[in-house]
Amino acid sequence: MRVADLIAYLEELAPPALAESYDNVGLLCGHPEAAITGVYCVLDCLPERVQEAIDRGCNVVVAHHPLIFKGIRRIDARHWTGRALELAIKHDVALYAIHTNLDNVLPGVNTMLARRIGLLTEQIRPLRPMQGQLLGLATFVPAADAPRVLQACWAAGAGQVGQYHNCAFQTEGQGFFTPGTGTNPHTGQVGRPEQTQELRLELLVPAHRQRAVLAALKASHPYEEVAYYLYPLQNTWQDHGAGAVADLPTPLPFADFLRQVCQGLGIGHVRHTEPGPGKLVRRVAVCGGAGAFLLDDAKRAGADVLLTGDVKHHEFLEATTGTVFVDVGHYESERLVADELALKIKEKFATFAVHLPEPGQVQSPVHWFTL
Ligand SMILES: [Zn+2]
Repeated sequence: MRVADLIAYLEELAPPALAESYDNVGLLCGHPEAAITGVYCVLDCLPERVQEAIDRGCNVVVAHHPLIFKGIRRIDARHWTGRALELAIKHDVALYAIHTNLDNVLPGVNTMLARRIGLLTEQIRPLRPMQGQLLGLATFVPAADAPRVLQACWAAGAGQVGQYHNCAFQTEGQGFFTPGTGTNPHTGQVGRPEQTQELRLELLVPAHRQRAVLAALKASHPYEEVAYYLYPLQNTWQDHGAGAVADLPTPLPFADFLRQVCQGLGIGHVRHTEPGPGKLVRRVAVCGGAGAFLLDDAKRAGADVLLTGDVKHHEFLEATTGTVFVDVGHYESERLVADELALKIKEKFATFAVHLPEPGQVQSPVHWFTL
């Protein structure tokens, strides 16, 4: 199995096109054609983690946080980033980052987090659905060829509306064309105006599937010159986006909810804003990492709580009514990502070992002192 096979799977799971524009996801170091000896899944690609990967015979490290994020000008082994890169390059270890693309897909980081704290799995939906990620495709095809063209476009990723697959719309009409010199028309003759019965097929296409869908359309369509319209849509894409929201199976008093969160995430403390007297928690918004920017979305969704990490003082001050901030810590909200990724990769590939750091080998960079 090659690194490229693993990348193909990870990019199916979390298409890089769904990453935020500031992010740096994908293969950061290494060769896609290298044969995989083992995969090591981590949250942060620290030099210690790269060394552990080498010690376990793994030549791929899959990390949530990109080791190279804002760009680097030198590989300086005096800094941990440089040391991690130096180690990886010296030992032929490929580094792969699956970051905000895994945050923005469902199921992804936020589904993992929502499950761990006991939200209703079947309800999980994006808190801030994506914009500008959907295209409309209309094409014109003889009726006899329409089923084949539709099947090809569906198989390439078109025609999904929420949980409905293989969606399309068709109308009958007349197509007009005159084949020019040098053409080899499916119907009609060179130089003679032609009018033929056609179907207009319309489908939704996620922007990141555009190339695959157009290739499938052209390969399956009988005409040598395929007529189609591809246009951007203003629709929000309900399937993916930032954060997630869902209800608890039964509403819980605020303190009981926090107990459930601590148990689910294996933590002993959280920070939170004032819940007010008798606060019941029914609907919960979550965002792994730093998700305070989603407070207004959480309020609009009617969430009683926004659970995330890295909440700053002035952000806490914004949560004065309705939605209570629960800050479990950045590391604590995302450490489950490595475990879940390892599980998924193991399920998919049986030909190489998938390892995780031992319990206790990794800890939050933030330590707590309590009297
Ligand atoms: Zn993070």
